[in-house]
Amino acid sequence: MPELPEVETIKLGLEKKIIGLKIQKIQVISPKTFIGNSQEAEGQIVLKVWRRGKILGVDLSGNITLLFHLKMSGQLVLIQKSKIKNQNDKSKFKNEDKFIGGHPTEDMLGKMPNAHTRVIFTLQSQEKQKSRLLPLATSHLYFNDQRKFGWVKVVRSTILSERSESKDLGKLGPEPLEKGFTWQVLKQNLLKHKNWPIKVAIMDQTVVAGVGNIYANEACFDAKLDPRTKVSDLSDQQLHLLYRGIIKSLKDGIAHGGSTRAHFVDPQGHKGYFLDYALVYWRDKHPCKVCGTEIKKIALGGRGTYFCSGCQK
Ligand SMILES: [Zn+2]
Repeated sequence: MPELPEVETIKLGLEKKIIGLKIQKIQVISPKTFIGNSQEAEGQIVLKVWRRGKILGVDLSGNITLLFHLKMSGQLVLIQKSKIKNQNDKSKFKNEDKFIGGHPTEDMLGKMPNAHTRVIFTLQSQEKQKSRLLPLATSHLYFNDQRKFGWVKVVRSTILSERSESKDLGKLGPEPLEKGFTWQVLKQNLLKHKNWPIKVAIMDQTVVAGVGNIYANEACFDAKLDPRTKVSDLSDQQLHLLYRGIIKSLKDGIAHGGSTRAHFVDPQGHKGYFLDYALVYWRDKHPCKVCGTEIKKIALGGRGTYFCSGCQK
């Protein structure tokens, strides 16, 4: 499931590529995926791309915002084609630039749209460029989702400025990478779930926004805490370690471009290979990279939970 680092990676990628573009058309293939009136967003210019927890926001002109939640299997694929004029013979070459973020799938490198495409956004450049690079031809943003739990919503931007009034953003806990998130805030929020295992509790989006299964596992490993430890059994010192573990695992995730094995045909060559760096997630039966003990997998709160009994007490 795309978590904070994956959505942040999408935010960082899209903001470089779609700000200033006009949404020419929105094609809703799966009505279940799209909430609101798509026509309200058509004709508007992309002003800003942002993230809150696991939600991606795209502010448009006309007081319109698009919200995206990728849920279990959502994925965004942006394909931009630019026409390059050759100086000598004026023939045009098409240069395709592809950006992929979110849930990794085998078909994400293939042709778009595909069988899992639910919404297609057609975007158009507004600038007239004088350089050899002619105005960008039409770009397409594909919202793909195998399991159809993800959604796109059209809302009024002003509704969002009052966070508490927004159904989607109002209940979210603190942003873990912002200043207001301290270990004391984490402690206060965790105490709502005194009897929960710590790993399950930090995945509650009202405790802290954006942590899902991958980074909850990694955070517990970093803190050297058994994921089954009850919240009420944590000392302040352990809480502080868990707090640091959450921040470290999310930052590492962002640094590695999230867990999407993304194929970025992008000048920076960004690749999402976080899973190569994960210390416990998806590593059951492999030796711990720190102590060599075999990583165990158990179910906790219905989710696959990975830990090292050697490192995590
Ligand atoms: Zn270990």
